[in-house]
Amino acid sequence: MPNSNFKGGLKIENPYPSNEIDLIRIPLPDKVVLPMQQRIGNQAIPCVSIGEHVLTGQIIATIDDDRCAPVHASISGTVTAIGNHVYAHQSGLKGLCVTIESDGKDEWVDTSIGCTENYKACLPLTIYDKIRISGIVGMGGAGFPTHTKMRLAAGCKNIIINATECEPGITCDAALMQAYPTKVIRGVEVLLHIIGAEKAIIAIEDDKQDSINELNKYCNNERIEIKVIPTKYTSGAEKILIKTLLGIQVPSGKFASDVGILCLNVATVVAMFDAVVENRPLISRAVTLAGSAIKEPKNFQVRLGATYDYLLSFVDLEEGSHKVTMAGLMMGINLKGTDYSVSKNTNCIFIDKAQESVVAQECIRCGMCNTVCPVELLPQQLYWFSKSENIEKAMDYNLLDCIECGCCSYVCPSNIPLVDYYQFSKALYKKQTQEKAQIEKARERFEFREMRLERNKSERAALMEAKKIALKEKMAKDRSQKEKIDAALERVNAAKIDNMEEDAS
Ligand code: SF4
Ligand code: SF4
Repeated sequence: MPNSNFKGGLKIENPYPSNEIDLIRIPLPDKVVLPMQQRIGNQAIPCVSIGEHVLTGQIIATIDDDRCAPVHASISGTVTAIGNHVYAHQSGLKGLCVTIESDGKDEWVDTSIGCTENYKACLPLTIYDKIRISGIVGMGGAGFPTHTKMRLAAGCKNIIINATECEPGITCDAALMQAYPTKVIRGVEVLLHIIGAEKAIIAIEDDKQDSINELNKYCNNERIEIKVIPTKYTSGAEKILIKTLLGIQVPSGKFASDVGILCLNVATVVAMFDAVVENRPLISRAVTLAGSAIKEPKNFQVRLGATYDYLLSFVDLEEGSHKVTMAGLMMGINLKGTDYSVSKNTNCIFIDKAQESVVAQECIRCGMCNTVCPVELLPQQLYWFSKSENIEKAMDYNLLDCIECGCCSYVCPSNIPLVDYYQFSKALYKKQTQEKAQIEKARERFEFREMRLERNKSERAALMEAKKIALKEKMAKDRSQKEKIDAALERVNAAKIDNMEEDAS
């Protein structure tokens, strides 16, 4: 029987508790800056030009590639810029963005093309295509195109809906479930139909009682189970959730679909429902705004591309210097300021009061990091191997299975930024692997060239030999013919002499 708990992980109190988790709708922003790159997948290429008027829901960027989802205009208005702009990414680099200035009308394009409202009468391929052109991606953080994930999992037995929040302090999925419980349940029914799975489990943590009640109120499908699991960080990590719910261990280097499971975040299910049943592409999402510098945490339903500064104008922000984090305190990205915009995978923005940075001390070998690792790795050993750049050893200790959850760093009394070391080692491993592959390719190319030259040489030698033999044979033939002619001439001359002698006598 699967264990509803798991080894390791942390019980972390919500750092920003709130009595209210309503999903607040805010007025349309005057401007949106839409990034062309999701976290995972290929970058979309803009198909509009500066000065063009666009309608809400219109595709403004796409690419014919399964690892990319189109991007839609989230407001109606004029395209005022297409170019590089900072976007929320670890690298801190700029990325291609399309800026639209609103005309204040929110006029929609006709989105009923490829209509799948009566989805039960549609072929799965038609529905996958509707999900693709609606730009749906994983909204839990990864941002991987959903139509591709679903196609890979077609025919799988089980579906898991991840309704656990990724990290403490994020409440946008809970707010979404309370605002749209029927969309969640009907969205899961759409999934069951398309995938042909036997059952679906909605996994939800026990601290979200209001959301649990709402879902239970509208769920009367015996193929859908609402499973309450203990609130513990990292229960929402895909492989851990699968093990917790079904007792199935997804092998190292494999995915959920490899063991016959489709796992989707609950916000992705709602977006997929909107696309398939309501012909509504992905143009908005729920975002949590919280942090020690925000007096009251709030959840907003916000148009994609809205700027952080626009969102922050709806909360009470304390003055002073701030630390800005996107996607959670444990696994999120620290950002330089608020000059960013909401993308499909922006689930939260935390604004905390800036604190003095802590200095890392020597490892005291206390072993606390080892006890909290939810993947049952040995973080202490990984740290030593990473520090000494002994990548081979780190790989022997399954570094690639580290989900970078940050539990080990969180409990480390020496404040060692352990995850930074693992990220560094992974990057180094990737570099070394690429270099090795390049060397291997170069070696193969060299060996092939040598082989080709050797083959050409032997072919040339064989040709010369054949020519030599043919010439010899020809010369021998010519010689024998000449001998025959000479003999014939001799015979003729001899006959002539005989005749002359006879005439003379
Ligand atoms: S928790 Fe920190 S100090 Fe303790 S063993 Fe791990 S790395 Fe070392
Ligand atoms: S960051 Fe990696 S090593 Fe540390 S606890 Fe999480 S999974 Fe384990």
